[in-house]
Amino acid sequence: MPSGRTHDLVTYVLAIPTAVGLFFLTRHVGLTVLGTATMLFGGLMFGPDLDTHSKQYTRWGILRWLWYPYKKLFPHRSHWTHGLLWSTWLRVGYFTLVMTLALAAVLYVRAVWIDGLPADGDQAVRTLQTAGHHMSRLFRAVDGKVWLVAFIGLWWGAATHTLTDVIGSTLKSMFKTF
Ligand SMILES: [Zn+2]
Repeated sequence: MPSGRTHDLVTYVLAIPTAVGLFFLTRHVGLTVLGTATMLFGGLMFGPDLDTHSKQYTRWGILRWLWYPYKKLFPHRSHWTHGLLWSTWLRVGYFTLVMTLALAAVLYVRAVWIDGLPADGDQAVRTLQTAGHHMSRLFRAVDGKVWLVAFIGLWWGAATHTLTDVIGSTLKSMFKTF
């Protein structure tokens, strides 16, 4: 299995043709920068190896606990985290859910401690609804094309990781045979 350093190197090197390709596709500097940035983010921090104690995981620093349930939930190198088609969708969904819950927790603490509202189940449901509402407003406030390019970048950054893993494993088994 390629090391974290190899994965980083592959990500950096492929960022260049990615930027060129994005510019030819979009003819837009802003979208090119966005897609290349999310590709780097997908390869370095938002990639498949968040399912284990990896460079991607530790790069989140004090925020790495956000990924702790993800790491515990999915086995390392399973289809859930390394699959080419759905694993990025799953991470985006997971991250959105965690961010919504974190926002709800902040809103709950504010409602109870600052506004002096009762700390009960109703309050929890209300703050959760408000957090969900804020998140969906955020999604709608940004142009669909921007989300699409951002997602393609994320997906490609993660896909290069999976492909490097596959190539690494194939080479390893080849050398074992000879
Ligand atoms: Zn991996």
